[in-house]
Amino acid sequence: MSRQIGSETLVIATHNAGKLKEISALLAPFGIRCISAGSLGLPEPAETGKTFVENALIKARAAAEGSGLPALADDSGLCVDALGGRPGVYTADWAERQWFEGPVGRDWYMAMGKVEGLLCERGNDVDRSGHFVCVLAIAWPDGDSAVYEGSVRGSLTWPPRGTLGFGYDPVFVPQGRNESFAEIGADEKHRISHRADAFAKLVAEQFGS
Ligand code: IMP
Repeated sequence: MSRQIGSETLVIATHNAGKLKEISALLAPFGIRCISAGSLGLPEPAETGKTFVENALIKARAAAEGSGLPALADDSGLCVDALGGRPGVYTADWAERQWFEGPVGRDWYMAMGKVEGLLCERGNDVDRSGHFVCVLAIAWPDGDSAVYEGSVRGSLTWPPRGTLGFGYDPVFVPQGRNESFAEIGADEKHRISHRADAFAKLVAEQFGS
C-alpha cells in the first residue's frame, strides 16, 4: 500500500484545460481540490523517458518540486503488437507535422496512416492487435511517488471510423466490440478505457476503505 494523498490540494501536471477538467471531476467526490501546473506558471518538462512510467514520473516530480504540493501526471499512448509496441511513448510525436514555415501541429490522420502503412508492409494476415496504455503518477515534494497503470486491448482497423473522441480513436476497436472508440461515445469509452482502468486502480488504493 503506497502513501495516501489525503484530503488536500493536488497539482495536475498539465497545461491542457480539458485534462484538468476531466481529472478534477474524477477526484472531486474524494474532497481533492485540483489546480493545474499551468495556472501556477510551472514550465512543462521535456518528456525524455523511454517508458510511460518514466515520463509520467518526470512530469509529476517537476510539478511537485516546483509547487511544494503533491502532484499528479499522466502519460499515455498506443502500442501495436506487430510493430514491437510502437508508437508507444512516441504516440503524439508520430502526429507532428510542420506546414511550410508555420508552427508544428498535430495531424492525426497522418499518424493513423503511418501505423496502417507499417501494418500493411507486414502482409495481409498481419496481427492487428494492440493496446492503449495510461500511466498515472503521483509525486510528493519529499520525493515519494506512486504509479498506477491501466490498459485496454483492441485491434487496429482501417479506414478510420467515427467522429467522436480524439487522437487514434477512429482506428481503435476495443476488444469485444465492433465499433471504434470514435463511434462509441465518451460515456461508454470512459467506462472501458485505459484511463478508466488506471483511475480505478488509483481510487481503489488512494481512497478505498
Ligand atoms: P500524452 O499522454 O498527452 O503524452 O499523449 C499521448 C498520445 O496518445 C495522445 O496525444 C493521443 O494521440 C494518444 N492517446 C492517448 N490516449 C488516447 C485515447 O484514449 N484515444 C486516442 N488516442 C489516445
